[in-house]
Amino acid sequence: MTSPLLPVFARAELSFEKGEGPWLYGRDGQRYLDFGAGIAVNALGHAHPHLVEALTQQASKLWHSSNLFQIPEGERLAQRLVENTFADVVFFTNSGAEANEAAIKMARKYHHAKGHPERFRIVTFEGAFHGRTLATIAAGGQAKYIEGFGPKVEGFDQVPVNDLEALKAIIGPETAALMIEPIQGEGGVRSVDNAFLKELRALCDQHGLMLIFDEIQTGVGRTGKLFAYERTGVTPDIMAVAKGIGGGFPMGACLATREAAIGMTAGSHGTTFGGNPLAMAVGNAVLDVILEPGFLKEVERKGLLLKQRLAELKDRHPSIIVEVRGAGLMMGLRTLVPNTDFVTAARNQKIILIGAGDNVVRLLPPLIISDEDIAEAFNRLDAACAAMEAELSTKAQPGAAQ
Ligand SMILES: *Cc1c(COP(=O)(O)O)cnc(C)c1O
Repeated sequence: MTSPLLPVFARAELSFEKGEGPWLYGRDGQRYLDFGAGIAVNALGHAHPHLVEALTQQASKLWHSSNLFQIPEGERLAQRLVENTFADVVFFTNSGAEANEAAIKMARKYHHAKGHPERFRIVTFEGAFHGRTLATIAAGGQAKYIEGFGPKVEGFDQVPVNDLEALKAIIGPETAALMIEPIQGEGGVRSVDNAFLKELRALCDQHGLMLIFDEIQTGVGRTGKLFAYERTGVTPDIMAVAKGIGGGFPMGACLATREAAIGMTAGSHGTTFGGNPLAMAVGNAVLDVILEPGFLKEVERKGLLLKQRLAELKDRHPSIIVEVRGAGLMMGLRTLVPNTDFVTAARNQKIILIGAGDNVVRLLPPLIISDEDIAEAFNRLDAACAAMEAELSTKAQPGAAQ
C-alpha cells in the first residue's frame, strides 16, 4: 500500500503505542529500550508525570493567545534561561531550524544596526547540520540537502573543523559571524577541540564577529551541563536551542546577549506559534526537573558509566566497533559494519539507536536513564554485536551456505 505521507523519510517497519520513562511499547507487542529519545528530544523520557501534569493543566486553560499579548509562562521560562546561561534575551520558536534562522538573522542585523550592512557572511564547518530551511541547508553545506532546491542561499562559507588556518583565511570584510555545533550531532557525534573553540572566540573578538553556537542537540542537559558551552570555557554571543527543551513538545529558542540582539527591534522578526502558553508550560516543567539540585551531576555520572560500558563493548567486539565518541549522554559508536546494519541489529535486540554521519550510531538515552537500564542496554548491544559477528563469520567462510 502506498502511504499518503510525502516519502521523504526511510521509516522502519515499526510504530509505537505508548512510552514510559526510557521504554517504548511497539504495536508489535514488544517493549523497546529507547536510546534514541526521538533524536535527543524526549530528554525526560516518555510520559514523565511532571510534564504530563503541566501539559494537561495548561491544556484545560489556554493553548494559544499569540504574541500580540503578554505570555507570563514565556516570561518566566525566558527569565529562568537567562538566569542559567550567558544570555540576556530569548526568542521562542517551534523548531531547531527556526532557532537557527533567528540566530542567523540576528547576526546579520547586528552588523546592519552597527552601520555595516555589508557584513552578512557566516562561516560554518564541514560536517555541520543546522536544519532544513533554505538558509539552514546553506549553513550546513551538505550537497545532498542543497541539491535541487534552487540557488543556494548566499552568504555561507565553510571550512573544516579544527582547521585554524583555513578559518583565518576565509574571514573577510563581509564576515558577520562564525556558527558551530560544540559537538556535531548528525555529523557523527564529532567533538570540536576546546582549543579550537577558544580560537573561534578570540577571532570573533578580534574581528567584531558574532559567535553562534548551535546547541539544538547538545543543549538542555544532554552533555551533563545545562549547555555544552559550559564544558568548553567559551561563551557564544548567540545560541540556538531546541530538541530537549520541550521534552517532546515541539519548541526551540534563540538566546543572545543584549548586545548581539541590538538590531532585533519591534517588528523585525516574529512567529505565530512560537512561545505559546502550552509550549511554555511544558518548557518550564522540563526546567523544573533538569535544574533540580544534583540532576545534571547525575547525568554526568551516568554519562561516564555509559562511556565505560561502551569502551568495554568495543573491546569485546573489535570487528564491529572502532571508536567510542561523545560526552555525557550524547554518545556515538563508529562502526566497521554499515551503521544502518548496527541500528537494525540493535532493534532486533529491542533497543533503539540512531544513525549519524561518519558511519556512527548515536546513543541518546533520556537523561532520566537508570544504571540498571544502562546495564540492560549493554547486554542488548552485546547480543546485537554477537549476532553481527556471527553473520560476518558466515559470510567470510568460503563455500558457506547462503
Ligand atoms: C536537529 C537539529 C537541527 C534542526 O532542528 P529541527 O527541529 O529539525 O528544525 C539543527 N541543528 C542541530 C545541531 C540539530 O541537531
